[in-house]
Amino acid sequence: MEECPFCHCQLIGCDCRYEHLGLDPEQEPTFSEGLNDEQAERWDKILRGKGLIPYGKETRSE
Ligand SMILES: [Zn+2]
Repeated sequence: MEECPFCHCQLIGCDCRYEHLGLDPEQEPTFSEGLNDEQAERWDKILRGKGLIPYGKETRSE
C-alpha cells in the first residue's frame, strides 16, 4: 500500500489530495465522484514533485 508523502497515512484513504488541490471533499461533485481526470492529473504531479511515483505509473527511463 502506498504511503502519502504528506501525512504518511494510506494514500488511498487520506484527504491530502483535496487539501493540495484546494477542493472541499464535503462538497459535490467531489463528495460523491472524487477527483476528475484533470484533478487526478494535478495530484499525480504533486506526488511526483514529492518524489512518489504513483503505483502502476512507473516510467523509469534512466
Ligand atoms: Zn495524506
